[in-house]
Amino acid sequence: MPYTEDRTHWQSGQGLWEHVPESDWNNWTWQLKNRITSLEQLEKYMELTPEERAGCEHANTKLAMAITPYFFNLIDRDDPNCPIRKQVIPREGEMTVGAEEMLDPVGEDGHSPVPGLVHRYPDRVLFLVTDRCAAYCRYCTRSRLVSNAQDYNFHPEFEAGLKYIEEHPEVRDVLLSGGDPLLMSDKKIDYLLGRLRAIEHVEFIRIGSRIPVFLPQRITPELCEIFKKHGPIWMSIHTNHPRECTQTLKDACERLSFAGVPLGNQSVLLKDVNDDADIMKALVHRLVRMRVRPYYIYQCDLITGSAHLRANVCKGIEIMKQLRGHTTGYSVPQFVIDAPGGGGKVPINPQYITKIDDEAIHFKNFEGKLYRYPLNTYGPLDSDDDDDCKCDAEEIMF
Ligand SMILES: *Cc1c(COP(=O)(O)O)cnc(C)c1O
Ligand code: SF4
Repeated sequence: MPYTEDRTHWQSGQGLWEHVPESDWNNWTWQLKNRITSLEQLEKYMELTPEERAGCEHANTKLAMAITPYFFNLIDRDDPNCPIRKQVIPREGEMTVGAEEMLDPVGEDGHSPVPGLVHRYPDRVLFLVTDRCAAYCRYCTRSRLVSNAQDYNFHPEFEAGLKYIEEHPEVRDVLLSGGDPLLMSDKKIDYLLGRLRAIEHVEFIRIGSRIPVFLPQRITPELCEIFKKHGPIWMSIHTNHPRECTQTLKDACERLSFAGVPLGNQSVLLKDVNDDADIMKALVHRLVRMRVRPYYIYQCDLITGSAHLRANVCKGIEIMKQLRGHTTGYSVPQFVIDAPGGGGKVPINPQYITKIDDEAIHFKNFEGKLYRYPLNTYGPLDSDDDDDCKCDAEEIMF
């Protein structure tokens, strides 16, 4: 059945925690303290499937379980196939390691000049500043180090990372991630952003965070002031399903936007969660309504124990085909595969070009109709100068 939703409805309220004072509910430290982190707690609130129970029993040796009360409310407890549930409740499949799966699927450790800093691309670095998150995604690419369930012994080294960036003038873009950087205190975030802003060659600072989605209460006016002070700070949030776009998240995005933080979204293509064009379309439409520009859809990395959550790449391509041209260009993200082993993000697109010959490029539009555009677009005066307008079709296409 195609996915449908009430487009006028934005979920809100305290749900199962209706009895809790509003001041507690809206307090991010209360949300953290009251996270669901054990099988016993979880079973108090809902009936688990046997796969989930087995998954929970082993979670603490792989990637800890933690779910904020706020996010737990988004689960449909009567539906074992709930797309929210699959993201945060461990299942037995996590314990199965597939043939091509890896602990460090995108080869971050091999590109890490100092612990916690990944320098893969020429002009930008990924700076992992913490190993903790508000809740844990069962498909996390960094489950080797996040939550420290595997005793990976990851100790983000702030000062060493900052020193590296200071000493490398080619680094003009710093992406703060982890773990979740917004789990740090205001004081620490203020300090870190201040230090980065003081580096003259750092032009672009961004934060990758799922906190607005797991713990929107963390987006306080005080935190927004810090972003304003050190701005422009860009932020990528991480939603996968339209049901995550609640009134509370919308309000948090508005606070960020009004503090001058441009917002993007990254989704991971997940089997039976969002590997469907109608669901993705509903998601990207909700995102733009919250002032969030869809940025990337990731093919799920080959992280150990993720086979049960990985969708087929072809579904991703099909989704892109059904978005581009069919809806607002601003709401169309880029589908990418982070190349296994460490090649970086590579765009995976439906094929629009059908042929490039000496005269023209031939291509299909969103409806599959064929068009051509001439390669020689010079006027008659330049026509003997035809070396300029030759391009190597082989090189462009393959
Ligand atoms: C994703 C990523 C970046 C940022 O890439 P953009 O395409 O600029 O968003 C930078 N460094 C590493 C190691 C990454 O994985
Ligand atoms: S929020 Fe990000 S880093 Fe944390 S568990 Fe989820 S995917 Fe991993």
